[in-house]
Amino acid sequence: MAKTQKTKTAKMADADKKYYDLLMRARDEITGRMQVRLEGALNSDNLDKRGVTTHMADVSSDSARNEFELQLLSKDGDVLKMIEHALERLAEGEYGYCMDCDQRIAEARLEYRPYAMYCTACKSIREKNNGRNPHAE
Ligand SMILES: [Zn+2]
Repeated sequence: MAKTQKTKTAKMADADKKYYDLLMRARDEITGRMQVRLEGALNSDNLDKRGVTTHMADVSSDSARNEFELQLLSKDGDVLKMIEHALERLAEGEYGYCMDCDQRIAEARLEYRPYAMYCTACKSIREKNNGRNPHAE
């Protein structure tokens, strides 16, 4: 019975399975980190209430740190969206191809950054053009 059963997971190629695992791990890591950052930001707001003496210098460095944390949080949010997107593409069998030039993204790059949407060449073009790729438009 199990022999003839062909589920989507069973059909998933070994490579896809590997990237699926990498993506899930990256997602866990990021959601965990966002949780910690969020708690950190909330806690430092409550320093006064917890009876910790706050000098002006501490307050300003605290709010600067909060801002930094919030920036990181929104960056993590972007990465999270990219991970979700990569998971969708994996399900559609389009995973691992550059969104701009349709070339296969190098394996080493995907292992390092499983949610990469562009090959290194297109990525660097985008970095030089404020996130746009004139060749792909
Ligand atoms: Zn490309």
